[in-house]
Amino acid sequence: MTKVSGTDLGEATAPVLVTELPGPNARGWIERDERVTSPSMGRVYPLVPARASGLVIEDVDGNRFLDFNAGIAVTSTGHCHPAVVDAISTQAGQLIHYCSSDFYPPVYAELSERLVARAPIVGESKVFLTNSGTEAVEASIKLARHATGRQYVIAFLGAFHGRSLGSLSLTASKAKYRQGYSPLLPGVHHAPYGADGYIEDVLFNHLVTPEEVAAVIVEPIQGEGGYIVPPAGWLARLQRLCAHHGILFVADEIQSGIGRTGKLWAVEHERIQPDIVLSGKGIASGMPLGALIARSDLMKWSAGAHGSTFGGNPVACAAAIATLDLVEGSLTANAASVGYLLFTRLRELQARQPLLTDVRGRGLMIGIDFPTHDIAAQVEQACFRRGLLVLTCGERAVRFAPALTIRPDQAETAVAILADACAEVAP
Ligand code: PLP
Repeated sequence: MTKVSGTDLGEATAPVLVTELPGPNARGWIERDERVTSPSMGRVYPLVPARASGLVIEDVDGNRFLDFNAGIAVTSTGHCHPAVVDAISTQAGQLIHYCSSDFYPPVYAELSERLVARAPIVGESKVFLTNSGTEAVEASIKLARHATGRQYVIAFLGAFHGRSLGSLSLTASKAKYRQGYSPLLPGVHHAPYGADGYIEDVLFNHLVTPEEVAAVIVEPIQGEGGYIVPPAGWLARLQRLCAHHGILFVADEIQSGIGRTGKLWAVEHERIQPDIVLSGKGIASGMPLGALIARSDLMKWSAGAHGSTFGGNPVACAAAIATLDLVEGSLTANAASVGYLLFTRLRELQARQPLLTDVRGRGLMIGIDFPTHDIAAQVEQACFRRGLLVLTCGERAVRFAPALTIRPDQAETAVAILADACAEVAP
């Protein structure tokens, strides 16, 4: 393939479709790919991206798409933001790797200082960096057990915390994610998300005493589970329950954090201060990075208790610092204001298009429900055929999760395309 860069796409408008989908080059790549890659990856539609800039993706045939997936809530500052590209190339020219678990790359400390400064945690906190969200979740299970000397963990139905065996034991969004992998981690219980009473009445009464529970791990807004916002006050009550029993409150902000909901952390909407916060996805604008941020007094584990060869890689850390500069600059406020515009337009669409049964969310984390999963999937495909990239989630939702750099006109375009897609799908 010829070398292309994203940045020369500039402010190109999208969508612009110049071939049928998939185009001839895309078909060629898909054939090559499917011959040699794991079928476990359930590719959603035949998108073969070649380069990208902001919210515009160009495929290998020159078709331009409007990206409302952001690489699944990852490219928070838009594709190939010049400041992020610059930070990556500068760092790559200086130091690509030197195992941060054994030595002291300055950029690891610099990023950790930045995260600590804005952690939604009472008192002092410390950071452990990983390569992915699931590794941050694994680290939190280990830290919670280590710090409390307790074994059990409580998670929620509908949750997605990752796919490695520990985090998969917490994941309960779709049974197929777990199928064939048992036995999973023992000592994990699940409770209904957003509902009071079950933990006390069922779990603590019948299955596990609170003194044996190390942590409750919760997404402030469920992501893969359907972009579900819990009832106001529920997270605060959950946190009080945890505090009462000495259970650590772990907020999985891997999808909801880094400005996406219009605040740096989604827990800030509810004034929650967790014991441990997990970050990932958008933290480094697409470079692989995750973070565990925990109260300093919990980090009693000694040298060798946990580590990673690549976790907190210098290039990923540099991308994260550039990302935080942008997100803490104007992008969080942009997520709030363009998110509000999107939400308003979607509610207006709901008023005239009965196919939309619910519109919910915060900032740029918006879920749109349809009557069935099948209809949501048809809408997703109809959007793709029109050049708008969206994904389903949960039981029957389509999600909007664009980059935080989104412009109002791009929000309007996306809603117009969604309306058109719904009109095609509507019976
Ligand atoms: N936690 C949440 C809330 C997520 O949304 C995800 C990924 O979708 C993960 C954890 C796992 O992250 P990763 O895919 O980087 O391992």
